[in-house]
Amino acid sequence: MIRPAPAIAAIPPTTPFIGPEELMRERGLSSLVRLGANESAFGPSPRAMEAMRAELERLSWYGDPESYELRAALARKHACRIDELVVGSGIDELMGLVVRAFVAPGGTALTTRGSYPTLNYHVIGYGGRLLFVAYRPDGRLDLDALLAIAHAERPSLVYLANPDNPSGTFVARDELQRFIDALPGETLVLLDEAYADFVDEAELIAPPIDDRIIRTRTFSKAYGLAGARIGYAITSETNVQTLQKIRLHYGVNRNAQVGALASLQDDAFCAYVVREVEAARRDYYALANELGLGTIASRTNFVCIDLGTAERATRAMHELLGRGVWIRKPGAAPLDRYVRVSAGTVSMRAAFAAAFHAVLAEVPA
Ligand SMILES: *Cc1c(COP(=O)(O)O)cnc(C)c1O
Repeated sequence: MIRPAPAIAAIPPTTPFIGPEELMRERGLSSLVRLGANESAFGPSPRAMEAMRAELERLSWYGDPESYELRAALARKHACRIDELVVGSGIDELMGLVVRAFVAPGGTALTTRGSYPTLNYHVIGYGGRLLFVAYRPDGRLDLDALLAIAHAERPSLVYLANPDNPSGTFVARDELQRFIDALPGETLVLLDEAYADFVDEAELIAPPIDDRIIRTRTFSKAYGLAGARIGYAITSETNVQTLQKIRLHYGVNRNAQVGALASLQDDAFCAYVVREVEAARRDYYALANELGLGTIASRTNFVCIDLGTAERATRAMHELLGRGVWIRKPGAAPLDRYVRVSAGTVSMRAAFAAAFHAVLAEVPA
């Protein structure tokens, strides 16, 4: 009898992330307005595409396992040393390394129920234990509750995304620094800054190169390279050396390394995306307002719209999919009465607005 490892055998056989392609196959849809995964609607930088195209013929080569050139450019951007950076195939992969290195098996990770789920996926998969606090009713992270549990349970790791997904909320720099300073000394902070490009660098905590903090960034959101799979972590050299022991040295796509490097040289494009995303958020606030619905002020490339109850939000999401518009919704209270809509282009926003009007008329409050 072949048996998986106990931690894996204990996981129920569900698919945690159902992609839009699967939804299209299930429903026989040939196209979808993709507003469900916070992908960029504004594409990769033209410079990144040009660089990637020019490099295609060298796709027969592995990428540089050290991602040296990219890390050198990132070290300049973040005023840190190359040895304080590790590149991976997206934050999702790096998160798995962090969990494997610092939490499991047997350790605990503290997070917010309903926040970015990939952390939980890794903790469970590597045989760790999860501890949760709830969001505050206004959708903000409850730092006091996280601190209280951290002191009571002394977890190996505490996770927070700032700006946060799915709420879109942001913890100001001083408040975050006070929180980090107040945590138990043995708790590692995994600070997920996937949406850092949508806030001002000055609003983020200074790069404290500290064994107690691992910050993650990605090229998937503002830089529009989600499908290329590339992201990085900033932390102490000691932590980088730890991750270095277990990371997949040829796991990063060579073409993604090229695209990421070229993206970093295109600040104007990034600024353009950030402006477009701000316009999209304003449109969504106005649409919700027009429909008499609340929103959570967002610092990201998506907006949560309040449908009053979890049932109505779930139904609206399904009905929108039936009309070819893919969005998602937070899964846990108190945010489960919201739907989360990614920033689209003007025409995607118009398609969403039309479908949303029709759906709300059908799905009673
Ligand atoms: C999108 C997202 C990620 C995934 O980043 P990748 O680099 O594409 O793996 C990680 N964390 C949060 C909070 C996200 O929203």
